[in-house]
Amino acid sequence: MLSSIRSRLWISYLLVIIAALTAIIGTTITNLSRNPLFYRQAVLRLHVAHSTLLSEILNDEELSFAGLKRLIQQSTEFEGIRYALISITGEVLYDSSAGVYPPIPEFSSPPPTTGIDPIAFDTFRDIDRKSWIYVLQPTKDNTYLLAASRQPVVEIRTLLRDEIVQPMVKGSLMAMFIAFALGLFMSIWIGNPLKRLADGARQIESGEYPILEKEGPQEIQELAESLNQMSRRVQQTEKSQRDFLANVSHELKTPLTSIQGFAQSIQDGAASTPHELMQAANVIFDEASRMHRLVLDLLTLSRLEEGTANMQFLPVDLSMILDQIDEKMQPQIQTAGLLIKKLIQPDQFVMGDGDSLAQVFTNLMDNAIKFTPRGGLVTLRVYSAEDSVIASVTDTGTGIPDNEERRIFERFYQVDKSRRGGSSRGIGLGLAIARQIVISHKGEIWASSYPGKGSTFFVKLPSHEKTNVKEHWQNQ
Ligand code: ADP
Repeated sequence: MLSSIRSRLWISYLLVIIAALTAIIGTTITNLSRNPLFYRQAVLRLHVAHSTLLSEILNDEELSFAGLKRLIQQSTEFEGIRYALISITGEVLYDSSAGVYPPIPEFSSPPPTTGIDPIAFDTFRDIDRKSWIYVLQPTKDNTYLLAASRQPVVEIRTLLRDEIVQPMVKGSLMAMFIAFALGLFMSIWIGNPLKRLADGARQIESGEYPILEKEGPQEIQELAESLNQMSRRVQQTEKSQRDFLANVSHELKTPLTSIQGFAQSIQDGAASTPHELMQAANVIFDEASRMHRLVLDLLTLSRLEEGTANMQFLPVDLSMILDQIDEKMQPQIQTAGLLIKKLIQPDQFVMGDGDSLAQVFTNLMDNAIKFTPRGGLVTLRVYSAEDSVIASVTDTGTGIPDNEERRIFERFYQVDKSRRGGSSRGIGLGLAIARQIVISHKGEIWASSYPGKGSTFFVKLPSHEKTNVKEHWQNQ
């Protein structure tokens, strides 16, 4: 029962109310029991009796000490108040209740008077630790008249019963009622959206992807948003896994069908002349090579994505890498009938794996050659920009439609699959591999293109200062 948020909220409200009530009742009782309000009656009585006796004493000029004691004694018997005469040194000269009560302790010299305020009083304790309230005023012959009575004991039980418990019980009942009502409201306010979230999470687990409404307190709304994001991501991952499987099967099916067809034509004698046999063998070889390339590319990509690709990060000169690629690819450039222009600033160092970076620009150059018609121009640029080095490959080829400039970096994405043909047709993994390599170098890659006019592929990498390069090699 206590496991639900609802009951816990209720109980916490109840506990808070009980704690608050206990604190309030405790402090009220302590304060009330010390409150002079309860002694006011007794103090007033003392004042009246004291001032009557005092004026009697002061008015009788011929009053002897024996007469004074008698007068005091009479007043005590009549009013039931304890009187005493105190000397200027604080000594008790006469106590009307001597022997009845424990003696009055000595006062300081001169004795501290209690003032003329009708509620002014002070207290002393006798040797039985009983408290007395008293008023003290000077009378004649350097003596002081003290009137005292026992401090009334406030009956805590009566106080509790009459003054506190009843109103408090009423208040507590009301507070508990409010607590229950608030607890119920809070538990509905917090509990219900949470329950909906739990239901939603269960649905995600079972393969449905509901969009959870953002309602209830802020934190629960944020949780709903996170769950929605998570479910979108799970959906995306599932979709990309399905796409991946479909793409791989499709890419393998085409060459396998060719291989099967040509192998069968050899088997059943349809290809019999040396020329036909050679043609069938070439197709089988090309398609097998293509499948081999596909498998290698997939392995590279998965190693890059997993972060297990064996890369060695060293300072490398990007200008030199592009120069070497240009040199290496001259035969293809010439076969394709393209011109090449190089705008390369020397000594553009980055921290990276030389072979992987060379792979990035080989893929970009491959595409530039593949998608640029004869007579076109391919421009290679390397330049520094603030803390980065930017290298770009520009062609005057077919270009890429605006809405596909980002998608071409996805696995197997090809703008126009029908454009493919022959053994050199692409697989759609070149840019995905390039992107992963650039990401693992903490860089960026993007394309900018004018359909029908050409494209530029940019690679931006954090630059590595030349001084650092020297230091790096010195430390080796
Ligand atoms: P592949 O070249 O093997 O098809 P990529 O991943 O290298 O795969 O490229 C994906 C797609 O991006 C290509 O099929 C093509 O449609 C488009 N593309 C890439 N580079 C260029 C380019 N320079 N000009 C025009 N389209 C390009």
